[in-house]
Amino acid sequence: MLLLFSVVSLLQDPLSVRADSVRPRHDALSYEVALTLPDSGSRIHAAVTTRWRLNSAEPIRIDLDTVFTVAHITVNGRDAEWRRSGFQLYVSHGAASGAEVSTEVVYDGAPLDGLVIRGVGETRTIFADNWPDRARKWLASQDHPGDKATVRWTITAPASFTVVATGLLSRVETSGSNRIWHFAIEEPTPVHTMVVGAARLATTSVGQGGCPARCIPVSVVSYPADSAWAVNGPFKRSAEMVDVFTRLFGTFPYGELRHVQTSTIFGGMENSTAIFYSDKAWSAHNLSEGTVAHETAHQWFGDAVSQSDWHHVWLSEGFATYGAALWSEYKGGTAALRTEMENNARTVRAAAVRNRPILDTAENRLMALLNANSYPKGSWVLHSLRGLMGDSAFFRGLGAYYAQYRNGNALSRDFANVMNATAGRSLDWYFTQALTQPGFPIFAVHTKARSDSVTVELEQVQDAAWGLYRLPGLVLDLGGKRVTMDVDGKVTRGIFSKPSGWTGRVKLDPETWWLFDVRENQQ
Ligand SMILES: [Zn+2]
Repeated sequence: MLLLFSVVSLLQDPLSVRADSVRPRHDALSYEVALTLPDSGSRIHAAVTTRWRLNSAEPIRIDLDTVFTVAHITVNGRDAEWRRSGFQLYVSHGAASGAEVSTEVVYDGAPLDGLVIRGVGETRTIFADNWPDRARKWLASQDHPGDKATVRWTITAPASFTVVATGLLSRVETSGSNRIWHFAIEEPTPVHTMVVGAARLATTSVGQGGCPARCIPVSVVSYPADSAWAVNGPFKRSAEMVDVFTRLFGTFPYGELRHVQTSTIFGGMENSTAIFYSDKAWSAHNLSEGTVAHETAHQWFGDAVSQSDWHHVWLSEGFATYGAALWSEYKGGTAALRTEMENNARTVRAAAVRNRPILDTAENRLMALLNANSYPKGSWVLHSLRGLMGDSAFFRGLGAYYAQYRNGNALSRDFANVMNATAGRSLDWYFTQALTQPGFPIFAVHTKARSDSVTVELEQVQDAAWGLYRLPGLVLDLGGKRVTMDVDGKVTRGIFSKPSGWTGRVKLDPETWWLFDVRENQQ
């Protein structure tokens, strides 16, 4: 069995490799969550109804932290047989593969994480913070990015709170000293982006974005004291960002976008329709427009199109990092784009994970996947691809990928297939090199000038374990003269007529399309 598995692994397409140890078992289609948030203490009460499409006769597996007391579980309204094993509830259903059933899990308890409850009185805050698999610490769910679902919320909270949640607010009712908030998102979204929040909050509109394709309201939701700085600072152009990304990627995936000041441990977290930002960074005015651009780009890539497996998280983080660079390009032109990509390259060159590939099946710690490979190196995968394909085909391909996988899931193979089709040729060699090889090329540049010619030898001197790289059409600047070399193999040689301004200096890639390094002091 083990041998057969390893044979299958060897034969598997490296761009489709799945490494998550736990995968979705059945398909959760929708969640209905009734949640009561406390005015004091940290006990919550929840009832989560999930509609499932079954993929087998196996029990339904629901993720939920052991700190909660489960009052009961039903299947299609009847008490179900269930057992608990660690963080999982296994619910027997008696239905066949292909059937649809509903489960309801009713539970109480004080979450230790995932839903973070802090402070008292005016400063009390309650915010979900799910990434990567911390939703299960408060929300009974199938907590995996490969299983997206819609969600409807009924959130009961003290009347002094403003409540936010993933989706659109439909109505608020008053019930004694509480208010009941109804939100829903009709587009299937990953569980790690299904969040709620409650605090004393001020909401400020910053306009509409995405018009005329889909005009959506964009707003800033913050602690009242921190509102003015935010709307005049990093969020001032946040509606315009939606316009720019709409033009580059396609119609905004949801009906609204809110930027929310919260207790998240991340600088920003791209929850669908309601991006959560670190309140510490926000209050210290240490939140940049680049972070807002990154999180906004995630609404398309990460939220609307999600990776099917955590190990393909570059499809989320690399795209968002490149989204921030595209915003810089929109504001500051090509020079700003190049500066940002050079900064990204510097981060990759200095990172410990440079010795690992982007698709790193050996890394089992999900938090550790938030690294320089998933972010800046992932942005470089896209940037060099753009250089290879040209702007027109590249952006057409991005739009086609978004359109095809919107509200669904993809692996790197799916993205490569769309880009290959758009390019009209297979770029699999490129995707394999960029995603499955560690590191980047390091060149030793050797030049030899004769009376009328210059010979340039580019020798790849990186760690042998990284392998060799192809860089077709690499541009070189020879003393003001532009030439190209199709870099392939250990040594690539080019002989060029000697430019009049030859100084002995060669600059590789003056237009900044490739991620590489140069070993200095070699001739
Ligand atoms: Zn991100």
